[in-house]
Amino acid sequence: MKIGFIGLGAMGYPMARHLAKEHEVIVWNRTREKAERHAREHGTKMAKDLADVANADAVITMLPTSKEVDEIVDKLMPHLKKGTLFIDATSGDPNTSRETAKRLAARGLEFVDAPVTGAVVGAENATLTIMIGGSPEAFERAKEILRLCGKTIIHVGPVGSGHAIKVLTNSIMGATVWITSECLLLAKQLGIDIKTALAVTNAGSGRSNASENLLPKRLVEHQWPLVFKLAHHDKDIRIAASLAHQQHASTPMLALTSQLFTAALHELGEGADYIEVAKIVAKMNGTSWD
Ligand code: NDP
Repeated sequence: MKIGFIGLGAMGYPMARHLAKEHEVIVWNRTREKAERHAREHGTKMAKDLADVANADAVITMLPTSKEVDEIVDKLMPHLKKGTLFIDATSGDPNTSRETAKRLAARGLEFVDAPVTGAVVGAENATLTIMIGGSPEAFERAKEILRLCGKTIIHVGPVGSGHAIKVLTNSIMGATVWITSECLLLAKQLGIDIKTALAVTNAGSGRSNASENLLPKRLVEHQWPLVFKLAHHDKDIRIAASLAHQQHASTPMLALTSQLFTAALHELGEGADYIEVAKIVAKMNGTSWD
């Protein structure tokens, strides 16, 4: 199968590599050098231009937000051919995806939103969980391609539902990271050793991915690697909050989490990792984790 892949960032780069094991993959990236390197190292083909990517059985986008996806779809539109499956793996906005799906349907293309979870390590090891919104037929077509990138592939519902559940699940994680940081800091201020506080949390009902895997490295080892941009996480939670607003849903925790992450982003800047919100929790208390 011929696959066009757009967006060789932290996630897209390894995903396109896995796809090249079974398919002819044509890669395009805004920064051309990354596409050149990918072609050189992983046997893919660098697209001459976007039209080159459009001439494929499936086109995959892995971009920061639905805004960039929309811009790319505008540019691709004159070159896309009937029957091509459009897979948007970006963590995007379900409203925009539904509009994009309509525009593509008018040209005879099916669209699925197929955001992923599992971080860069999941993309590197092809163990991602992939949640797909689209028709049952389009889901089956997408699954056959994306099985090379992920372990668990779930059909969530119609177009937009993959993007919806992705931002909701990331909001759960955001709120969990924040409250866990607050309580661990309070434990520290009460004179409890941070390792002991984590040991009890992880042996009890407060445990989570945050307490088991994410916070110990930062709070105990004082290492703050960049694994997922806070800017991306803030974007996901803002989309979730906007969906709640549209539904006239009462979601005060979600609203607060969104506000806290936006404040943290302003404070920490675009280059920060999402777990660095724990630094803001400490700063709000006039202290640090050191
Ligand atoms: P990165 O920032 O690493 O990569 C973004 C990619 O988009 C790059 O290829 C970049 O090109 C390209 N890009 C940015 N702006 C434009 C533009 N205006 N036009 C064309 N291309 C553009 O992001 P990630 O790979 O980390 O994330 C991609 C998506 O996956 C996001 O929606 C994110 O929320 C989601 N995600 C990320 C996870 C993670 O752990 N990183 C985990 C799960 C989901 P260039 O190389 O030129 O900068």
